[in-house]
Amino acid sequence: MQAAGMRCRMDAAGNLIGRWEDEHQPAEAVLIIGSHLDTVPDGGRYDGMLGVLLGVALVEAISRTEAKYPFAIEIVGFSEEEGVRYAAPYIGSKAMAGRFDRELLDRVDDQGITLADALRAFGGSPQSIDSAAVDPARVVAYLEAHLEQGPVLQDEGLPLAAVSAIAGQTRLEVRLAGGGGHAGTTPMNLRRDALTAAAEWILQVEDFARESIGMVATVGVVEVSPNVSNVIPGEVRLRLDLRHADDADRSRAVAELCRMGLELGARRHVSFEPRTLHVQDAALMDTAMTRMLQESVADAGVRPLTLISGAGHDAAVMAGHCPSGMLFVRCRDGVSHHPNESVECADVVLALTAMWHFVRRLALRTGARADVTGR
Ligand SMILES: [Zn+2]
Repeated sequence: MQAAGMRCRMDAAGNLIGRWEDEHQPAEAVLIIGSHLDTVPDGGRYDGMLGVLLGVALVEAISRTEAKYPFAIEIVGFSEEEGVRYAAPYIGSKAMAGRFDRELLDRVDDQGITLADALRAFGGSPQSIDSAAVDPARVVAYLEAHLEQGPVLQDEGLPLAAVSAIAGQTRLEVRLAGGGGHAGTTPMNLRRDALTAAAEWILQVEDFARESIGMVATVGVVEVSPNVSNVIPGEVRLRLDLRHADDADRSRAVAELCRMGLELGARRHVSFEPRTLHVQDAALMDTAMTRMLQESVADAGVRPLTLISGAGHDAAVMAGHCPSGMLFVRCRDGVSHHPNESVECADVVLALTAMWHFVRRLALRTGARADVTGR
């Protein structure tokens, strides 16, 4: 960041911030470009880092031109987006958006270290974490570039996409309880097999999501009891993860799938007991920002495509605080959170080009003082 001409600081929440502005024309307004510096254990090298480095490279390119911008640019490397250590995601971006929950400071990791102590050891300041909040009136926009973390761009043969929303999510735990019994002595017509009931429901979930545009649904956990080859499964616990960009559609889907589960349970004499574990509403990106990103992608010579993000990002938090936009970059085979995570250099160049056009368009839209003709 310093080599690219920025002044650096770390805020109270551990976010690393590099600020670039025209020294002759300091600006009140700021464009924030960022992503996260952490990743998951045994993750890849590009996850959030790519978006931070794209911001640094963009400032480096801009600072070599004569262009005048009506805002400063701050590149942010957010702390602790994944939430691995404290099972609490978006710690850095929530602090910046003024939405940090102070009760989390007392939470301990598996070594018994509190979040407050960990933050202090890193150089942050838990007692003054509120100071990390930025005044939304000063923020022209928040822009985040990130790996797609999915296979759609590769499938479309495209390097980039604008993101219009980050999908909302419901996680359910379902307990199905039937009756155990000897696998050799219980006739088929007298069984109350919780696992075959669960299997039928899992296929219903798959069919339902396939027929619903924009929905993804996954049963990723199946716990069978007693899980013995010669005993009929008496109890099964499932976990459903269902995502959609429209919160009402997501709620209706969850209700309908529960109704179907109760119906098949009644038919099979197996109880069906759903319990909500987690609900996260969708985050819409700003429509004007998304449009400018689509135009900027086209400026870079790429057919503009708009996607919904099925994964969460700092942009989901920032979107509630200031006008936000997101750019996806193609990754190989949709692989992410894995050492094989990979991007093409040519795609990164196109992302940088699109971001450069975005900043230029934003400047022209924001201020009469903008002179962005310099290349
Ligand atoms: Zn990420």
